[in-house]
Amino acid sequence: MNRYWSGRIRNAVPYTPGEQPRDRTFIKLNTNECPYPPSPKVTEAIRAAAGDGLRLYPDPECLDLRAAIAQREGLDLRQVFCGNGSDEILAFAFQAFFEPDREVVFPKITYSFYPVYTGFFGLRCREVPMNPDFSDPIDLLCGNNGGVVLANPNAPTGLAVGLDTVEKLLNANPDVVVLVDEAYIDFGGDSAVGLIGRYPNLLVVQTASKSRALAGLRVGWAMGDPGLIDGLRCVRDSINSYTVDRLAQAGAAAALRDEDYFQSIRRRVMDTRRWTEHALRERGFAVLPSQANFVFARHPHHGGKELLDGLRERGVLARWWSTPEIADWLRISIGTDGDMAALMAALDGILLYSESS
Ligand SMILES: *Cc1c(COP(=O)(O)O)cnc(C)c1O
Repeated sequence: MNRYWSGRIRNAVPYTPGEQPRDRTFIKLNTNECPYPPSPKVTEAIRAAAGDGLRLYPDPECLDLRAAIAQREGLDLRQVFCGNGSDEILAFAFQAFFEPDREVVFPKITYSFYPVYTGFFGLRCREVPMNPDFSDPIDLLCGNNGGVVLANPNAPTGLAVGLDTVEKLLNANPDVVVLVDEAYIDFGGDSAVGLIGRYPNLLVVQTASKSRALAGLRVGWAMGDPGLIDGLRCVRDSINSYTVDRLAQAGAAAALRDEDYFQSIRRRVMDTRRWTEHALRERGFAVLPSQANFVFARHPHHGGKELLDGLRERGVLARWWSTPEIADWLRISIGTDGDMAALMAALDGILLYSESS
């Protein structure tokens, strides 16, 4: 706090990003990054873009990148918007489509950036309690709200809903925007992109950070009715027209055009996830059936914080929240097979140590 701060930032409750350690090498299973490198074509494209062209501003409309997305998804260019990570697009969408006098609704256990945005942008939110099995409380997201935000698959649970459920939300909330955050859609869920032509209130947001191994490049995109895309553009051009730089546009477009590489890394992550769920259950963990690149797990005799600290001592980072409903749980990103074997060895150390003491 500082005497020059505006009232707005005095009252802000910012998001806490997952740790990016600098001092020591950890097995990093805390921020859902991809354990594999990006496509070699990405590096090539960035190298080619890293010359004289950097004198010039990037294309504010990201035309080539949007063309790559539109082509892959069978959409029109006017239905696609690109941003500096999907977090930026979410921030734009909250400002473009939600009003202070009507509550934005989302499930209680979900991406913790959503309540940060409503707070910071002077909006109100209603966080709807989860069903006891952590499934989304869909009926409570239907009607009587000023907008709906749904992460599908959800974070940190990893659970996904089907398209019938997304359509139910769209039909029940025709006068407000239903924002579907598909950051993890490539790891098993069904994308709502195919519904876009039929629902002018649907905005689907995806990212290159997870399934395309480009968290460091900061590229996300939104897909929806051209009217919604224009709304995002209006917010962007009121703040900063050039949010996606030249290297990011070139690299992300190359990633989107390398379908074979994309398929191979997402399959590897899903295979390793299957092995990880099994190995955790063998050790007594309850594991939610994940459709994402992480698992959400709980041990009957060890709290989430205890496991988090024990793993850290053994060189493995995971993610834990003190929120009472999930304080017993740990979110563990899917790494390489070697990373997950090291995770199991560390867990065995913790479980064994506590048994003998
Ligand atoms: C990781 C994540 C994002 C943010 O992705 P970026 O494109 O890296 O900003 C958005 N939503 C959810 C649910 C996420 O887990």
